[in-house]
Amino acid sequence: MERFFRRSLNVTMLCKQTWCEMQAVYSLELPLVAKRELERAEVKAGASVHLARELEVHEVVPVRAVTREDRQAINLLNLLGMIPVLQAGGVVRELPVFGVLEGVYMVGVIDELHYSDRGELVLSELKTRRHSSLPREAQAKGHRLQVGLYKLLFDGLVRGFLTRDDFVEHLRLRLEQPLGAAVLQHAGKLGFQVTTLGDLLDVLLLNLRYCELPGIDVLRLEYRHQDSGLALGSQDVPFDEDLLRAELRNLLSYWTGRREPRGVDIEEAWKCGMCAYEKHCQWRGEQLQGSVMLHTDKKPK
Ligand code: SF4
Repeated sequence: MERFFRRSLNVTMLCKQTWCEMQAVYSLELPLVAKRELERAEVKAGASVHLARELEVHEVVPVRAVTREDRQAINLLNLLGMIPVLQAGGVVRELPVFGVLEGVYMVGVIDELHYSDRGELVLSELKTRRHSSLPREAQAKGHRLQVGLYKLLFDGLVRGFLTRDDFVEHLRLRLEQPLGAAVLQHAGKLGFQVTTLGDLLDVLLLNLRYCELPGIDVLRLEYRHQDSGLALGSQDVPFDEDLLRAELRNLLSYWTGRREPRGVDIEEAWKCGMCAYEKHCQWRGEQLQGSVMLHTDKKPK
């Protein structure tokens, strides 16, 4: 994390890591290749489906952020605005979650939270697919990790695990820093009279302590075909906190400098054939020196 000047990690970065750790690292080391990848038509199409769904339940308001503290304040305001909706039994989309897991500050955005007919709090994560089929295990593994980590973060928030110190020690934010005019104006419109990030954080921590929201009961992955929008199926993901935390510790051991990154195993060498970093990849180059890789280039049928 120090090498990449990171104070926090995004849940989606850890999901990329489950596909190929070297690829996740290259996405930071070679940002121009990563940018081209993000501009691919299907990535853009996936993002616009998410935005359209978000707009179904709330408005998106542009707010000018000047400092890191401003950006963090907007994040807190977004969460603060969604707590009463959940308390009233409503649906929220693009809900920010954050907190410290296994010693690392993690952030993420939950696609949707709603209550089922039985009163369970359901997390629904939408995945758009280029092909009209459900994902293979190699991809589904990352999706399961994603929703599991979102549950750990959300449940940690509503159980009051977040502290002021997390923002100072992990993110090095200046809690006494006055917020920018645009952020203050937006906070005022939402009914929060604050001056600094610390003030806003205190409001959030109080709200979380007394909100009495439940933890997430159901983790659901929903797959849709990107072009037609047709539902391809949904899967409920089992939650085993011990297993999930063990997997997380293994992934984080790279980011906290305790081991080198790893590329894919020989059995998954087909992933390299569809990887934007293939020609730069040191791991792939080393593997190609062995002859086995040459015969496993194609994705298995
Ligand atoms: S070429 Fe293969 S090992 Fe290298 S980053 Fe891409 S998927 Fe990973």
